[in-house]
Amino acid sequence: MKILAVGCHPDDLEIGCYGTLTKYIKQGHDVAVCNIANGNLGHVEIMPDELRIIREKEAKEAAKVIGAAHYSIDIGDLYVTAENDDLVRKLARVVRDVQPDVVITHFESDYMNDHIQTYYATFRATFAASCGHYEIGAVPASAPLTPIYHMDTLAGVGFLPTEYVDISDVIETKLEALACHKSQIEWMLEHDGIDFLDFVRTCSKVRGYQCGVAYAEGFRLCRNYLRMVPKRLLP
Ligand SMILES: [Zn+2]
Repeated sequence: MKILAVGCHPDDLEIGCYGTLTKYIKQGHDVAVCNIANGNLGHVEIMPDELRIIREKEAKEAAKVIGAAHYSIDIGDLYVTAENDDLVRKLARVVRDVQPDVVITHFESDYMNDHIQTYYATFRATFAASCGHYEIGAVPASAPLTPIYHMDTLAGVGFLPTEYVDISDVIETKLEALACHKSQIEWMLEHDGIDFLDFVRTCSKVRGYQCGVAYAEGFRLCRNYLRMVPKRLLP
C-alpha cells in the first residue's frame, strides 16, 4: 500500500502517527509525509525566516529516520485555511504524486485552527485529486475518495480512538524522529514548560494502557460517504 500522512506543522506527524508510519514501512509499504505549515512562528528567539528553514531541515531529518518521502507546502503559521485554493491545489498535486491507499491527518476538533484547517484542506484535496478534470498538471487522477484516518489530538484531549496500533516495538524510533525537532524541544520547554519527548512517550503509554500494550497510537476513521472501508487498513 501507499500511505500519505498530512500534518500541519513539521513535528505534528511525529507526535501523532510516526510509530504507525514506521510500522507500515517495516511491513514493506511506501510512506510519504507532507507538512502544510512551515512552523515559522514556533520559537521565542529564532526569527521566522530563519526558523522556517531550520524546521524544514528538522522535518526532512525525521522523515529520513523512518525512511519516508517528505513534502512540504510552506504556508506561514496561522495562515492555514482550507479556503486557500492554491494550498489545496498543491496538496492535490502531492496526492496525485503519491496515489495513496490511505491518508492520515488531524482530527476536526484539534486544539488549534491550523490543525483543523489541515484536515479540511486534506478532505478537499483528496476529493479534488480524484477528479480527472481538476487541472493541476499532467498527472493522473488519484483513486476516488481515499479513506482518511484521524490521528490523535495533542495530549488526547477530546479524542476517543476507535482503532489502535501497537507501537511498542517502534517507540524508540518514533522518539528518535521526534528528537530531530531540536528547535521545538527548546520552544516547548521555554514556552510551555513541557519536556517534549517525555510528553509524547507518556501519551503513547496512555494509549497503550487503553488497549493492553506498552505503547500505542490511536485513530478514528473519517466517516463520510465512500470514505469508509470494510477492512482494517492500519498496521
Ligand atoms: Zn502543530
